[in-house]
Amino acid sequence: MVYQPILDLTDDACHSAEALIRLNDPDLGTIRPDEFIPVAEAEGSIRAVGETVFRQVCAFMASGKATAAGIHYMEVNLSGGQLSQKGLAEELYRITRSYGLTPEMLNLEITESMLLENLPEIRENLEQLRKLGFALSMDDYGTGFSSTRMLNTIPFTLVKLDRSLLEPAVTDENARVVLQYTMQMVARLDKKVLVEGAETVEMVELIRAFGGNYVQGFCYSKPLTEEEFLSFLKRKNPSSKEE
Ligand code: C2E
Ligand code: CA
Ligand code: CA
Repeated sequence: MVYQPILDLTDDACHSAEALIRLNDPDLGTIRPDEFIPVAEAEGSIRAVGETVFRQVCAFMASGKATAAGIHYMEVNLSGGQLSQKGLAEELYRITRSYGLTPEMLNLEITESMLLENLPEIRENLEQLRKLGFALSMDDYGTGFSSTRMLNTIPFTLVKLDRSLLEPAVTDENARVVLQYTMQMVARLDKKVLVEGAETVEMVELIRAFGGNYVQGFCYSKPLTEEEFLSFLKRKNPSSKEE
C-alpha cells in the first residue's frame, strides 16, 4: 500500500491520507490499480484483495506511528464487488476492532457508479456501516451522473470532486463556475469538500478561494510508502507528538 497525504486547508497540515494499492510483479513490473482492480472484480478475487487492503491499513494505523504524527483517519477505497457482499459492514467492523481501532479512524470511499445498480445489499451495507461508526466519502464526484439524489439519500460526510472538474477551471471561466458552485452545493448540504488532482499551487489556491476543506494532489504530495509518509508527516506536522 502507498498513502497519498491530504492537505487540510483549515490549518495547512495533514490529518488524513488515501490508501492506494500497488501491485509489483517480478516480470511485469508495477501494474496500475486501474488495470488490475477491474480484473479482480471480473474473476472474483476482489473480496480477498479488499480484505488484504483493509487489514494492511488497519495494521498501519494500529502501529500508532501515523496517529502520533497527526493523522486522524485513513481513506480506504471500496469496490463494487465488496459493497455488494452480504454482511460486509459487520465484517469490516470485526476486523477494525480486532486491531484495537475504532471505525472513526477509517473513512470508506465509494464511487457513484457503484450505487447506480441500487442493489438492496449495497443500501443495507451503507446504512449499517454508518450505524457502526464508519464515515463514508463519495469518490470521483463529477465523472458519472453526479446525481444530487445520491448526495441527499446516502449519508456521506465527505465528497471528493474529481480532477476533471478542477483541471479546466484554471483557464476556463465556465468551468470555474461549475467548480465553484458544485463546491458550494456540497458545503450547503453540510458535507466536507475535497478536490482531487491539484497539481499546481495555483490549483490549491483556487480550491482555497472557493472554500474547499481539503486538497489532494501531486502539488502537495504524490502517494508515498509507509516510511516516506511518516517522514513527510514529521516535516509537515512538526508540532505533532512523537511516539
Ligand atoms: P482514485 O480513488 O480516484 O485515486 C486517486 C488516483 O489519482 C490515484 O491513482 C492517485 O495516484 C492519482 N492522483 C493523485 N493526485 C494526482 C494528481 O495531482 N494528478 C493526477 N493526474 N493523478 C493524481 P492510482 O493510485 O493509480 O489509483 C487509481 C484508481 O485505482 C483509484 O482512483 C481507485 O479507483 C483504484 N484503487 C486504488 N487503490 C485501490 C484499493 O485499495 N481498492 C480499490 N477498490 N480500488 C483502488
Ligand atoms: Ca479514491
Ligand atoms: Ca477519486
